[in-house]
Amino acid sequence: IQSKLPGVNTTIFSVMSKIAAEYNAINLSQGFPDYSCDPKLIELVNKAMKEGFNQYAPMPGSIFLKETIAEKVEKLYNIRYNPDTEITVTAGGTQAIFTALASIINAGDEVIIFEPAYDSYAPTVRLLGGLVKTYELAPPDYGIDWDMVKKLFTVKTRMIILNSPQNPTGSILSSDDMKSLIKLVSGTDIVILSDEVYEHLIYDGQTHQSVMSYPELRQRSFVVASFGKLLHATGWKLGYCLAPEDLTKEFRKVHQFNVFSVNSPMQQAIAEYIKEPKNYTEIGSFFQMKRDYFRNLLAESRFKLLPCNGSYFQCASYSSISDEKDSDFSIRLVKEFGVATIPVSAFYQKATDHKIIRFCFAKENDTLAKAAEKLKNV
Ligand code: PMP
Ligand code: GLN
Repeated sequence: IQSKLPGVNTTIFSVMSKIAAEYNAINLSQGFPDYSCDPKLIELVNKAMKEGFNQYAPMPGSIFLKETIAEKVEKLYNIRYNPDTEITVTAGGTQAIFTALASIINAGDEVIIFEPAYDSYAPTVRLLGGLVKTYELAPPDYGIDWDMVKKLFTVKTRMIILNSPQNPTGSILSSDDMKSLIKLVSGTDIVILSDEVYEHLIYDGQTHQSVMSYPELRQRSFVVASFGKLLHATGWKLGYCLAPEDLTKEFRKVHQFNVFSVNSPMQQAIAEYIKEPKNYTEIGSFFQMKRDYFRNLLAESRFKLLPCNGSYFQCASYSSISDEKDSDFSIRLVKEFGVATIPVSAFYQKATDHKIIRFCFAKENDTLAKAAEKLKNV
């Protein structure tokens, strides 16, 4: 069979989680919490099922949930998205990304991405016949020189994918970045896909720079969010996409034939849960404490920690420990030291090894402490 995605293997997240289980290692690789979500949330799902929310939800999402999302977004960003025409509930962030790309990208269209990047972007673009134009971010700060981004523009540039806070680097976009981006895209018909699944996970009093806060960007953007991150329940696979009416119309044309609609009782439960703002305003400080706890523990190790301004990922350089390839080093960490991580080279399409690995700190403090004990021996 002729592969549509030659060169693509099983995603690194499945690979590392499998090896972690095989070797009974502490799994700081794939990004998911090792503690339970709020039991109240589980009760609400039960309640919704008992109340009869067991058949198809409306195609674009539960009316109650879309209204609650609109309220949440308005509270956070002071912008009203219309639940009827601008909000679509999806099966997680990944489906929203896929659907947004599928609704816009034609064969030959170019999409700019910033690498290292979440691993679904590039293969999805290629599957659709699009071409990926890559801007390589450089450690340790992974900042963007927008004049260099401009050099990637051609008449075929159709889309730019943003991700702030960023997976895997934990870097964030500043208001200056947003201003530079506005200058670049003004007067073009370039669409932005803004992956904001870590919008709440931003630290040290910094403000999340959403495309929603900038009219010039908002009117051309799909914004992707994930309840998996927000509710500490990655297995629920629910999220949403915000976009102006013209983009949402195209998005829903694909969405209806991709999944039609998504899990009904969970939409009901989430809507009730996030009606209470404290259920989403406290998550940033929760993860900042975990970041600080983990960083302090690792300060005694030989790993060199990179900055982490957002997300629940901490990157670290091991170049003073070993000159192995990051994929080999990660596997040895599992086998010899019992800790699973992600080699950051997995977030690039072309072989790029800066000798950096990524830890996920969305874990019980006890897990982080046990992992740190092992990592101090490396
Ligand atoms: N975007 C980024 C940057 C992510 O890290 C993830 C997954 N952790 C997603 C999208 C996908 O989110 P979901 O699990 O809701 O599909
Ligand atoms: N986004 C999560 C991570 O980066 C995992 C997502 C997945 O497993 N596809 O670890």
